[in-house]
Amino acid sequence: MHEHKIETPNEKQNRHKAMESVNVLNTLKEGFKTPPKAMDYFYNLFEDVYCNQKALHKDKVKVGTMCIQIPSEIIYALDGVPIRLCNGFYTDDEIGSDFLPQKACPLVKASVGHLSSKNLTDKPDMIYSPTTCDQKTKAGTLIASFGYEVVDVDFPRTKESEISREFFRRSIREFSADLSQKMGKKLSRKNLKASISKIGYAQSLYHQISEFRKNKIVPILGNDIFLVTNAFFFDKIDNWIEATEKLVEELEQRVKDEVNAAGKISPRIVYTGSPPIFPNYKIPLIIEDSDGIIVADETCSSNRMFNDRVAVDEWFVNDMIDSLADKYLKACTCPVFSKNDDRIRRIVELVRSHNADGVIYQAFAGCTVYELEQRSVLEAMEREGISILYIESDYSPSQHGQLSTRVEAFIESLKIKNRNKK
Ligand code: SF4
Ligand code: SF4
Repeated sequence: MHEHKIETPNEKQNRHKAMESVNVLNTLKEGFKTPPKAMDYFYNLFEDVYCNQKALHKDKVKVGTMCIQIPSEIIYALDGVPIRLCNGFYTDDEIGSDFLPQKACPLVKASVGHLSSKNLTDKPDMIYSPTTCDQKTKAGTLIASFGYEVVDVDFPRTKESEISREFFRRSIREFSADLSQKMGKKLSRKNLKASISKIGYAQSLYHQISEFRKNKIVPILGNDIFLVTNAFFFDKIDNWIEATEKLVEELEQRVKDEVNAAGKISPRIVYTGSPPIFPNYKIPLIIEDSDGIIVADETCSSNRMFNDRVAVDEWFVNDMIDSLADKYLKACTCPVFSKNDDRIRRIVELVRSHNADGVIYQAFAGCTVYELEQRSVLEAMEREGISILYIESDYSPSQHGQLSTRVEAFIESLKIKNRNKK
């Protein structure tokens, strides 16, 4: 006779999350042309963390961040590990629905659901929450009610003015002082400079990969790139760097050998909007499954983390902190800002530099700012003569058919345009 063990809620959550992970990882490994060998590191990493509940940072202080605006350089310099808590699991989104309105942003619901369960392999010792969009801002207070130590980091909603620049510099100075005190360590010229160079080096690897994606023959899927950049949320940075160096080498060889991850006439897509976070690659997978290839993106889970470097004039601690604050504010193209011409400029620039055929703009249902910015982006693309498709989606496995139909029709229209150009 079989003994039936009753599953605890955490076991059930782990099982569901493992299923979500395996589905996506198997699709990436087997659903397309052979991926680069170097991707195995990333497939195994996600499997270890999400299917086998492996903790990566047992003996380290883990500093949770709710968004990209918290400088990782400062956390690394103080010997902590930044863990970005933005979450892509439908299982966690459903848990989060008990605490937030059903129509809230799935990313925020999933982050809240994950933290409410306390079922975390690398549980953050403290969380810094920048007051960016309304939902993230309110989520911070909710997460604190679960017993986490949450510190708000004031974030301005404009970025052009001198006031906002000074405002965010003060905010980041305060964040550094607070973390420094909690860690019982001091920021020094040496440790901060070292971590700025290390992150700068990681960024340079990302830029090398981007160069390969500008080629006519694209050596890697956009979905694989999302996996690589999402790993940066939580991986050991030295391991990530080593694995990405190997990937760069392999991609260089693939370009020489003309190994194409796409089809011969696959339309080249720039992806923008609400961030794809593992395992919610619903739209990116539909795009590449419909014979499109994502050659670049403008999202905070990928390009936005690596695009801009810190420009330091003076290598003194206070100057470095200010330079970091300037970079994190300036480089952010999140629609939370009143004016956001930088985002439009970035999308157009990516389309031109990567020779893209069109843009796909995803907004999570419930994300007002991405929904609101739809109009200005669509108008700008029209002015520039760039084809764009706007879609709304969430984390649920339903509406797949309807979304596929729209994406397929868009990709097909780009193919027709390409044929007519010839
Ligand atoms: S979409 Fe904006 S507010 Fe949300 S995580 Fe990304 S940068 Fe932060
Ligand atoms: S997708 Fe929208 S609501 Fe969700 S975190 Fe980003 S800006 Fe906020």
